[in-house]
Amino acid sequence: MFDPTRTAGLETLRDFVPRAGSVYARQRNIDTAPHRTNVSTLSPYIRHRLVTEREVVAAVLEVHSLSAAEKFVQEVMWRTYWKGWLEQNPEVWRRYRRDVSALIDGGATDAADYRDAVSGRTGIDAMDAWVGELVETGYLHNHTRMWFASIWIFTLRLPWQLGADFFYRHLLDGDAASNTLSWRWVAGLQTVGKTYLATASNIARYTEGRFHPEGLATAAHPLTEDPLPARTPIPEPEPATPSTRVGVLLHEEDLDLGSLAREHPWLDDGRVVAIAASQDAAGRSPSGVSDAVDAFTTGAVEDAVARATHDVTVRTLAGTPAAAGAWAASENLDAVVVPYAPVGPVAERMTGLRTSLRDEGIALSTLRRDWDTLAWPHARRGFFPFRTRIPTLLAEQGIPGPR
Ligand SMILES: Cc1cc2nc3c(=O)[nH]c(=O)nc-3n(C[C@H](O)[C@H](O)[C@H](O)COP(=O)(O)OP(=O)(O)OC[C@H]3O[C@@H](n4cnc5c(N)ncnc54)[C@H](O)[C@@H]3O)c2cc1C
Repeated sequence: MFDPTRTAGLETLRDFVPRAGSVYARQRNIDTAPHRTNVSTLSPYIRHRLVTEREVVAAVLEVHSLSAAEKFVQEVMWRTYWKGWLEQNPEVWRRYRRDVSALIDGGATDAADYRDAVSGRTGIDAMDAWVGELVETGYLHNHTRMWFASIWIFTLRLPWQLGADFFYRHLLDGDAASNTLSWRWVAGLQTVGKTYLATASNIARYTEGRFHPEGLATAAHPLTEDPLPARTPIPEPEPATPSTRVGVLLHEEDLDLGSLAREHPWLDDGRVVAIAASQDAAGRSPSGVSDAVDAFTTGAVEDAVARATHDVTVRTLAGTPAAAGAWAASENLDAVVVPYAPVGPVAERMTGLRTSLRDEGIALSTLRRDWDTLAWPHARRGFFPFRTRIPTLLAEQGIPGPR
């Protein structure tokens, strides 16, 4: 279903743009699996920035007015909102990581109810079919993800963290912020006290009668947690030092060097002498990721390497800090530049890289995109105040309206 290349992402975008206005607004909640034309299916491309949020929104607004494409633009902005929120609340990610490890170490993934759920043997027809679809395709429709999470938490009464981990291991678009915070939202932790309850009638209606599950929970009591610490400021990117031999290391959070260099033109002034890209999708979970996720991420990284147009050595590396450190030393670099990695496993990997480069006397700097820098600080409270800023944010990005 998903070819891990920028070309395939741009084709998907081009095909979808005509439907991003009123068709999307009216039909987006219907899961018409296996053939979907009412949603974009762009998420595996956007998640790796094979295609950027900015170019998706700009392409849509070239054809539709903001009011016609409001729903679609808002959905893209949900992604940005979740990232900005997690960036300011990294403790949520740390707790999630710790809880998943503790549950696995404590034997929760060996228990029969968990094994039945992830093997499609719950006896709830919809749930069992969605597990099959997720494992086979690496994708689920948004409404289906909500139903799935709700049934997992409130009907099957399994830990939300293990549901999020199961998604994260199998979704081609698996994303620390969107996944973790959406699961928390369903559970009543994110908007405190407000849960999402899946009902058989809603599922029947929006799957066009394919499913009418029986025995679902009829109430969804919010989960609770220890209070979160106060929000923390978004870390500043670390600026590049005036180096003479710079290497660019791309990773699975951001694989479009072309548009990154347009935002940071010094990347084209001759200082960049080596380019590499690496991924470690397996770092998303103590249980690793599916072969499909690994293959998509590997393919996406190879596509980024193939597209690098600089006349310098370009390599794919193993996804360990040690491999990147060895590359930097062998290229005799005095600085490595990476796209800014938001809270999640890649940021954790970059912390390891910083230490290993420091040992070699090599500086590490980060490049953040304007898209993130402008929007993230506004992801302080709920999505609704954030949403009101969308027209201003688009204007600040210089995204023009329809011709
Ligand atoms: C429990 C749960 C887990 C999720 N896990 C992930 C995840 O790991 N990665 C991920 O990218 N999305 C996740 N989502 C959000 C959403 O379901 C997917 O982004 C969307 O279904 C992708 O399909 P699409 O590209 O056809 O979306 P479209 O409807 O065409 O939307 C366009 C784009 O907007 C973004 N988007 C749409 N809806 C959302 C949303 N609710 N939250 C954040 N971004 C959104 C995506 O980048 C998407 O590609 C999750 C939602 C839930 C309820």
